[in-house]
Amino acid sequence: MYERLIFELDRQQVPKPYLPRPTIPQKSVEELIPSSYLRKEAPGLPEVAENEVVRHFISLSTLNYHVDKGIYPLGSCSMKYNPKVNEDVSRLPGFANLHPLQPEETVQGALKLMFRLQEFLKEITGMVAVSLVPAAGAHGELAGCMMIRKYHDLKGRSRRTMLVPDSAHGTNPASVTIAGMRAVTVRSDENGLVDLDDLKAKLNDDVAGIMLTNPSTLGIFERRIAEIETLIHGIDALMYMDGANLNALLGIVRPGDLGFDVIHLNLHKTFSVPHGGGGPGSGPVAVSERLKDFLPIPIVSEREGRYFLDVSIPHTIGRMITFYGNFAALVRAYNYILMNGPDGLRQIAENAIINANYLLKKTEHLLELPFKTRPMHEFVLSGEPLKAHGVRIMDVAKRLLDYGLHAPTVYFPLIVKEALMVEPTETESKEMLDKFAEALEKIIQEARENPDILHQAPHRTPVRRIDELKANKELNVCFKPK
Ligand SMILES: *Cc1c(COP(=O)(O)O)cnc(C)c1O
Repeated sequence: MYERLIFELDRQQVPKPYLPRPTIPQKSVEELIPSSYLRKEAPGLPEVAENEVVRHFISLSTLNYHVDKGIYPLGSCSMKYNPKVNEDVSRLPGFANLHPLQPEETVQGALKLMFRLQEFLKEITGMVAVSLVPAAGAHGELAGCMMIRKYHDLKGRSRRTMLVPDSAHGTNPASVTIAGMRAVTVRSDENGLVDLDDLKAKLNDDVAGIMLTNPSTLGIFERRIAEIETLIHGIDALMYMDGANLNALLGIVRPGDLGFDVIHLNLHKTFSVPHGGGGPGSGPVAVSERLKDFLPIPIVSEREGRYFLDVSIPHTIGRMITFYGNFAALVRAYNYILMNGPDGLRQIAENAIINANYLLKKTEHLLELPFKTRPMHEFVLSGEPLKAHGVRIMDVAKRLLDYGLHAPTVYFPLIVKEALMVEPTETESKEMLDKFAEALEKIIQEARENPDILHQAPHRTPVRRIDELKANKELNVCFKPK
C-alpha cells in the first residue's frame, strides 16, 4: 500500500471557494510589504480541496498506530491510556486562554490549582516541598543533580561523583554529565538489585549522591533501600529517586518515607498527560528538608489567601524554563488526582502490578526470565534461546506488528541480552493482555518452525521493515516539490 504525499495530491485546478468581492479599496502585496521581505518564488504549497485534505489526514491517522487504537506495551516509559476528560478540562477557556504575563491578581484560580497540585504531590511522595517547573523527566533529573551539587558546594566541598546503578534509566547518567558531574556505575547482583559490595567499594569523599530508578528498569523494587540509605547518608551524600514510573508505587510507598532527598515525577507518564510525539511534558521535583532551599524557581506560595509566584528560595538553582512550567500538563494531572482520590490512585498502582505479573506468568515460559525477583509494573524477558533458530528479539518485535500490536521495548536495559521489556500498564483489560500473550506464543512457535516469516516481518503494515541504520544516518525529511 502506498499513501500519496499531500504534495502529490496537488491539483492546480481545485474549485476556488466563492468569496464576495471586497467593497474596500484593494492594494497589491507589493504595495503593502517591502520588497526585501517578499519571496522570489512561490512557496510550493499544494492546492487541495478541503474534503481531500480531510480524507488525506484521516487516512494517515488510520495507518498510524496510537494508544487510541491499541495497547502500547513499552517498558520503561508508561504509555498508558489517558482519560479524555482530562483533555477536556485542560482546554476549558478559563485555563486555555490565560496569558503567562497576566497580573497575579487576575490568575488566582490558576495559581491555586498549581499550589494544590504541589500539596498533592508532597502528600503522594512524602516530601516537604515541590517545584512544578521542570518540563520533562530528564529536566527534573537535571534539576535534582544541580540541587545536589549546590548542596555540597555550599558546604564548601566540591563533590562531583554520582553513583548510578546499571539498571537505571539511560537519562540518569546523561543528566549527571550535563550537571557537570561524573556518573559512576554500580553493578546489579544476580537478583537485579543493587550490589551492595560494589556500592561500598565505590563510596568515597567525592560521592555527591546516588540516583536510583525505583522500581528499576527491570521493574524490580529495590528491597535494600534502608541499607543503601544508611551508607549514602552516612557520608552526607544524597538520595535521588527517579520516579518517572510512579504508577507502580502510588498510594503504596512514599519515597520520602524511604529516605530519599529528591524525586522527579513524570506527569506525562503517571498522571494523565499525553506522552509520545514529543510533549510538552512535565517533570516536577519533590524534595526532603535537606534540599528545600535549593528548588528551581518559581514555586507557588500562599499568604493570607492570596497565591503568588514565589522566587524567595534562599539557595535556588535558579530558573530552568521561561515562566513556571507547562501549565496545561499541570491541569490534567491535577484533575486526574482529584478524579481518582487516594483510593483510586492506590488502585492504579495495584492494577499496574497485577497486569504486569499476569502477563509475565502468561509469557515467561516462551522466552527466558533473567532475574527471578518478582517485578512490579513491568518485566524483562530475554530472547537468547531464539538465537538457536537464527531469530533475534528485533524479529519478534517486528512480527508483533503483524498481529496489530505495538512492540515492547527491545535491547533495553543493556544488562539483559536480547531484552524484551514489557509494561502493559494498568489501563489494559485482561482480554487485551490475553491477546498479547497469544500473539507472542504464536510468534515463538513461528520462530521455531518458520523463522523466515520473522526475518521479513512486518508483512501487513503500511511500511515494511525499514533500514533503521540508514534512516538514522541519512536523515531525509525534505520534500522538494517538482
Ligand atoms: C521516561 C523516563 C525518564 C525520562 O523522562 P523524559 O520525560 O522522557 O525526559 C527518566 N527515567 C525513567 C525511569 C523514565 O521511564
